[in-house]
Amino acid sequence: MHVLVLGAGLAGVTSAWYLKKAGLDVTVVDRQSAPAMETSFANGGQISVSHPEPWANPGAPLTVLRWLGRDDAPLRFRPRADWHQWRWAASFLRECLPWRTHANTRAIAELARYSRQRLTELRAETGLQYTHSERGILHVFFNAREAGLIPERVRTLAAHHIGAQACDANRCIEIEPALAHMKTPPLGGIYAPDDESGDAHDFINALTTRLRQDGVRFIFDTRIDGLDHTGGLIDGVRVTHQDGRKARLEANSYVLCLGSYSPLLVAPLGERLPIYPVKGYSISVPVADASRAPTVSLTDEARRIVCSRLGDTLRVAGTAELNGYDLDLDDKRVASLKAWVARSFPGATDLEHATPWCGLRPTTPSNMPLIGKSGLLNLYYNTGHGTLGWTMACGSSAALADLMSGQRPEPDFPFLGRRFDQD
Ligand SMILES: Cc1cc2nc3c(=O)[nH]c(=O)nc-3n(C[C@H](O)[C@H](O)[C@H](O)COP(=O)(O)OP(=O)(O)OC[C@H]3O[C@@H](n4cnc5c(N)ncnc54)[C@H](O)[C@@H]3O)c2cc1C
Repeated sequence: MHVLVLGAGLAGVTSAWYLKKAGLDVTVVDRQSAPAMETSFANGGQISVSHPEPWANPGAPLTVLRWLGRDDAPLRFRPRADWHQWRWAASFLRECLPWRTHANTRAIAELARYSRQRLTELRAETGLQYTHSERGILHVFFNAREAGLIPERVRTLAAHHIGAQACDANRCIEIEPALAHMKTPPLGGIYAPDDESGDAHDFINALTTRLRQDGVRFIFDTRIDGLDHTGGLIDGVRVTHQDGRKARLEANSYVLCLGSYSPLLVAPLGERLPIYPVKGYSISVPVADASRAPTVSLTDEARRIVCSRLGDTLRVAGTAELNGYDLDLDDKRVASLKAWVARSFPGATDLEHATPWCGLRPTTPSNMPLIGKSGLLNLYYNTGHGTLGWTMACGSSAALADLMSGQRPEPDFPFLGRRFDQD
């Protein structure tokens, strides 16, 4: 059976890996000239199983209201005359109900744990070389109220079978000595030793090289214009190559991994995907003094900023903005990430040479990805991974390959049948 994977980001390339392993003939198509050039390009780098709680939680509406009008707010909603945005926002509010947050957290934790395990297996099987660190993730707290909740959060993580330790300020500095240079050191933290971090772009490039050796075909510089269907089946994909040539690609089955652009391509088929682009920023900063730069991946819980050491570079990422498909770099956002680095690790990096970037997280209101069957018989989804697309990539794609091979995936997760049960 020939499968055409649409999109070569984290979701698409890992799908290709597990589908190939399942014995299928695989082709991947993407509009960029190489894999992982859009949202999977420069994310925060965290494999963060220890952060399963979605943005949509009972405290979120109040927090978002508090942040309204603040330029440096971690989450910003820019209202547009866009019905899709308002419908998404209404669903987000519904997902903030305590019992929905609980169910979503449980499912995300289950998939994320499975995914980290599959990533470890993939590395062991392939010997794939990419920049990564297995030193865990330390969540640091600077606000007394949030720090007071550390024991409860550790208990919740344990209930989801996620190993995490409560740390006082001294223990945080023992785990990551660079924190000692902070102007205001953390009040406490949660350390998840089994979590890891790594460069997603580097990983995807290495995996693509391996897949090519294994006979997977990649068609780059090719824009997907639409999907043709007859009698409930996709029978081809209309594309335009870089030189303007129009063509049609055909396969037996199709897997949609187009990130934030996924809903646009399937809307004409009558499929309504609850995915909205949530813009985030990162800066990649050269390390100037290794003794002052962190090596353990960190999450600043108050400012919603994550930071990962990727070789000689410090990757710092954060902010969320609901403003359609806008990809302009806002100087204020970049400046606030730089200010965070300067404050947190004085003298550790060369901020003059920081490289800014932004990307659109393909986000569902619940932060649960859409994995499984669409309403068309031979079209499958592996999209909508939101804030945790790197964390959940291998598990989502392994589960998809199981579903497409008629097997029951291992994680207890609401995979899609013929209908969306989340929308
Ligand atoms: C600032 C930031 C920080 C983040 N930090 C983390 C983190 O620390 N840990 C974590 O787990 N996740 C993180 N994420 C989330 C993660 O990066 C995303 O969930 C993930 O990259 C999504 O992958 P994807 O393959 O679904 O989408 P993409 O990487 O966007 O891939 C979609 C592909 O489809 C292609 N495409 C789209 N439309 C078309 C078309 N019409 N024709 C042809 N090709 C098309 C694109 O070129 C692209 O290659 C972060 C995201 C951001 C923005």
